[in-house]
Amino acid sequence: MAGSTGEGGGETVSAKVAFRIADSDVQAELTVPSGRVPPGAVLPVLHMLEAIVIEAAEARLEGEGRRIACRAGCGACCRQLVPVSEVEARHLAGLVAAMPEPGRSAVRARFDAALARLAESGLIDALRGLDSVPREEREAVGLAYFSLGIPCPFLEDESCSIHEQRPLVCREFLVTSDPVHCSDPAAARVRGVQLPVHLSNLLARLPDPSGRGPSPRVALPLIMEFVETHPDELPRRPGPEWVDAVFRLVSGGGLPAPGGELPGDRAP
Ligand code: SF4
Repeated sequence: MAGSTGEGGGETVSAKVAFRIADSDVQAELTVPSGRVPPGAVLPVLHMLEAIVIEAAEARLEGEGRRIACRAGCGACCRQLVPVSEVEARHLAGLVAAMPEPGRSAVRARFDAALARLAESGLIDALRGLDSVPREEREAVGLAYFSLGIPCPFLEDESCSIHEQRPLVCREFLVTSDPVHCSDPAAARVRGVQLPVHLSNLLARLPDPSGRGPSPRVALPLIMEFVETHPDELPRRPGPEWVDAVFRLVSGGGLPAPGGELPGDRAP
């Protein structure tokens, strides 16, 4: 590992790793803060892993004569219920807080409008306790949410305004069917892409992989309310420890040495 000073002035540490994920051999140089940071500091590592998983899925689909139909400018799925991990909720809220004006106020206004619409619909209590909704009722809650047609507060001109930073679950929602069907998920004509691993699910366990269980999931329009009403008790650890925790969750092992393996078939 090599240490240096990062763009933000903080100390960083880099390491070359080699691993296998989703049938792909990967060599990468990972750079993370060396000091104690919240788990969101390793989201770039997860974004990189997710891109590899999706690239492998695309190659597999191509071999079957199919292709992913999702394209920039299609916001059909951005009116669905998007649950994110607490780690991402805090990261996304931080993005909003760091936006320059007048963009920040415009995004905040869209969050406020979504909350008001959810309160008016009576759905907001279910969303505030998303993890308490019985499994058999989740689909109904999702369909009720979709029927409201509330655009994600980050959606602008039918495109994601935070594309590079969008949540893992948004990256994982991919279809090979005509995107027009995504406007009516109840019709069951949406043909989703099966991924070998869902990193969005792993992320919920990252803050405490061996302890108290998954951290809460937050409906995306509620993230600002969540961070404003829940103190940030996510643990702080050195960046390399978070990277190690990510690889442990995915593979059951630690940070892979060159030549190590990160099996892609360990779906959560
Ligand atoms: S974060 Fe972006 S991709 Fe995800 S639902 Fe919102 S607008 Fe769509």
